[in-house]
Amino acid sequence: MASQITTGKDVLSYCTKCKLNLSHTIVAMKDAKSIAKVKCNTCQSLHAYKDPSVSSAGKTRTKKVSGLTPKTSTKIVNISDLWMEKLNKTTSKSQPYGIDQKYKEGDVIDHSKFGPGIVQNVKAQTIEVVFRHDIKTLVHNKAL
Ligand SMILES: [Zn+2]
Repeated sequence: MASQITTGKDVLSYCTKCKLNLSHTIVAMKDAKSIAKVKCNTCQSLHAYKDPSVSSAGKTRTKKVSGLTPKTSTKIVNISDLWMEKLNKTTSKSQPYGIDQKYKEGDVIDHSKFGPGIVQNVKAQTIEVVFRHDIKTLVHNKAL
């Protein structure tokens, strides 16, 4: 065997601080074949030896779904579905949103920030609008 593992030798280990597989110096051995402690050649931190081949293969996979889970998942109604249904039903042309405009139920407004939305629940001064990701109460019919 060419390379023997023993204290003072370099070995590839997963560094818990750098979060990378890096070259480490063996500081202590458990027995003749297994490494107990290593020192990271990059950040100089001492930690238990972590075999780079088994380190984080499973860990990195579970994390990537986070961005896809909608925040509104706890609500009973799926807003996106409701929005789509309402948008398909309505025959109104979309109009830009302005607080001085007066809207009625079923109107489609084009909001600069939230995008297209369908008016429901009209009150004297406010309208409830279904947007793709949220239902918002907006002001309308306001005298400027
Ligand atoms: Zn390190």
